[in-house]
Amino acid sequence: MMMFKEIADVLVDDQWRFRNSRDSGIEQVLAQIKAKPLLLTPNVDDGVKWKRGDVEYGSEFSAYSTWDMVRAQNAKVPWAKLIWFKQGVPRYAFITWLAVKDRLSTGSRMRTWGVIQGCTFCGEPEESRDHLFFACPYTYGLWLQIIGSLLRPAPSPDWNEIMARILHSAHDRLVSILLRLALQVTIYYIWRERNERRHTQRSRPANQLAKVIEKTIK
Ligand SMILES: [Zn+2]
Repeated sequence: MMMFKEIADVLVDDQWRFRNSRDSGIEQVLAQIKAKPLLLTPNVDDGVKWKRGDVEYGSEFSAYSTWDMVRAQNAKVPWAKLIWFKQGVPRYAFITWLAVKDRLSTGSRMRTWGVIQGCTFCGEPEESRDHLFFACPYTYGLWLQIIGSLLRPAPSPDWNEIMARILHSAHDRLVSILLRLALQVTIYYIWRERNERRHTQRSRPANQLAKVIEKTIK
């Protein structure tokens, strides 16, 4: 905009007057401005107005509203509510986000890099996102223990069904926050336990892990 100010002369005789610019981008902008008819109110000073929205203008420049108008807006994904909410904790939200996008480096993803990794909980040869959350007997038992009375009837071990249940069941606000927190903390600790088992051979029984998860949620 500074550049624009420097080359823009004020209006003379109801006409736009600009100095020439060697910048073709600016020339294009000027051509667009010149194409607009001028609607002047006599005896009223000119001023700069910044566009804030479709019909809204302000006297101050706002980086946010300008960015909001020029950016390509993506449709909101339905699971966003599962991940990002006011009471959430970034550490748990981030791992859950990776799980939702199926971007955790599970056995099925590692296979593409030539690494074979089975389930560290039950020995199932195909360690996929859907197996870990929560088709695996170890993690499913743990999940049921955590979710307890919050989600009735108990969900099936199917990932998509669980996501849909948490998103769409009619819950009161507190139950809804607790469910999302329970999901995120459980995913986080299962993934952490999985990595610990992979790297240190140490393993905790599901009951012990459930206690850590419950304490964290509280
Ligand atoms: Zn398993």
